[in-house]
Amino acid sequence: MDDRDITGDLDRVLYSADEVAARLAELAAQIDADYAGKELLLVGVLNGAVMVMADLSRAMKSHVQMDWMAISSYGSGTQSSGVVRILKDLTTDISGRHVLVVEDIIDTGLTLSYLISNLLSRNPASLGIMTMFRKPEAARNAVEVGYVGFDIPNEFVVGYGLDYDGRYRNLTSVGTLSKHVYS
Ligand code: 5GP
Repeated sequence: MDDRDITGDLDRVLYSADEVAARLAELAAQIDADYAGKELLLVGVLNGAVMVMADLSRAMKSHVQMDWMAISSYGSGTQSSGVVRILKDLTTDISGRHVLVVEDIIDTGLTLSYLISNLLSRNPASLGIMTMFRKPEAARNAVEVGYVGFDIPNEFVVGYGLDYDGRYRNLTSVGTLSKHVYS
């Protein structure tokens, strides 16, 4: 679906599907170059990173492998619960592997910090981070993110894998929700 299919639900569109695709193509080229000659394992964080993973991996020209983790962070509201726990673990042994975590969005960085220390304890050869969207608080944090699609304002956004109460993940663009949707 695009924003015309949900008229009135979005307050404003931040990025169109074309803008997201163009930025992803740039990141894919950069990742291809940075990992040239290495076999890369992309680790997608479910559920939000499904779209990013699908589009990033297909925009790349190198072979990649993919695996998935699911971590609880947000409930059905728009505030971070602070609870981080693994709901689904990797099926791959990442010891000695070059790993790139593929994230949809980093807000406080709480989820990512947990993920980084958890994955580092498994002794990968390298651990990189890619996120499609990043909010200001995360940008201020010390967490080093090698690849950022867009730095966005501190607002709750939906679309391109990001949901509100399970909906809007299949929206091709990314935008902020109108107030009436929350109430
Ligand atoms: P953090 O731990 O960085 O605060 O939160 C990261 C997770 O919170 C993301 O993976 C995502 O699931 C959720 N999240 C953070 N900001 C937003 C947002 O603006 N929209 C949506 N739909 N989810 C968000």
